[in-house]
Amino acid sequence: MKVPMLDLSRQYESLKDEMLSTLDEVMTSTRFILGDNVKQLEKSVADYSNVQYGIGVANGSDALHIALQACGVTTGDEVITTPFTFFATAGAIARTGATPVFVDIDPVTFNIDPSKIEAAITDKTKAIMPVHLYGQCADMDPIIEIAEKHNIYIVEDAAQSIGSSYKGRTSGQLGDAACYSFFPTKNLGAYGDAGMIVTDNEELAERMSVIRVHGSKPKYHHHILGYNSRLDEMQAAILNVKFPHLNEWSEQRRDNAENYTKLLKELLPEEVTVPVEEENRYHVFHQYTIRVSKRDELQGFLKENGVATMIYYPLPLHVQPVFKELGYKEGDFPEAEKAAKEALSLPMFPELTTEQQTYVVEMMAKFYKKV
Ligand SMILES: *Cc1c(COP(=O)(O)O)cnc(C)c1O
Repeated sequence: MKVPMLDLSRQYESLKDEMLSTLDEVMTSTRFILGDNVKQLEKSVADYSNVQYGIGVANGSDALHIALQACGVTTGDEVITTPFTFFATAGAIARTGATPVFVDIDPVTFNIDPSKIEAAITDKTKAIMPVHLYGQCADMDPIIEIAEKHNIYIVEDAAQSIGSSYKGRTSGQLGDAACYSFFPTKNLGAYGDAGMIVTDNEELAERMSVIRVHGSKPKYHHHILGYNSRLDEMQAAILNVKFPHLNEWSEQRRDNAENYTKLLKELLPEEVTVPVEEENRYHVFHQYTIRVSKRDELQGFLKENGVATMIYYPLPLHVQPVFKELGYKEGDFPEAEKAAKEALSLPMFPELTTEQQTYVVEMMAKFYKKV
């Protein structure tokens, strides 16, 4: 049996007719940039996040960068974030000219550890950028408390967490602004690059929508240095077809996660640490990520047996060559470093079958020589 990390073809088959007709409509309309499809998606995603404004942009990385820029983050400022995330989180911070300041993670959730944030705050700290990794919200209440106390912004990296919630509040309404990615592999994925910022702050929303069109307002008059980062009509049309299915897909991911956990607890209770859904969170399982010893050997064995897995992420950001001048070294964030050596993400997508899941876990058991 072959089990891919992700199979987008089953989803396309189920939506094919609608997709082709909506793309035909866009092409027939000849309106390709910032038209009705983008407006509709912005409204859907803002409503879904329980905030007023959605600003469609070219991708999730630009969403992070534009959100920070709109908050006034610039050269000389510091932004606190986690070293255990996709590169774009800290890349967006560095692109504003600000310095990423890393804080270690909570080993249970893999998210930033709020109890370590206060020690990293200086008078240059302008914002905190928590990442809701793998689809589960970071522990936001203490983060919100710290941000209020020091009068700094929170920009959520919600690239992996659309649909998740924290104590009844959605990912997207837990900070001053939140950034989604619609990269094809994300829970709501376009057929190319796309992203969105959501916010309840009118002034920030206005600035973001100006920044994405070269800082132009009125047209051809530039008060802010923006750039071209728009979500296009084709991608928005595709996402509008997918959006009504998002909740159902999240539920299917959660069912798959529950099934993995059941199987793993049965067969490999000692060898595998399964993901934990913290109390009062709704985890949308963008990834189902376990911790194991002999991780690389396990991954190799699974690959030989037709099972794809991924390591998110093998090298924490504080030891990335590009951030060398920040002065961090191996040993600075032991939990992030340990996670980078132990984390393994198993195949996860809504259409994953129970037979496939059983096979994945049986192969794992075979590796650990239990069966
Ligand atoms: C995918 C992702 C991004 C970047 O999104 P793109 O749309 O690929 O630019 C940023 N942060 C995290 C945590 C991500 O997973």
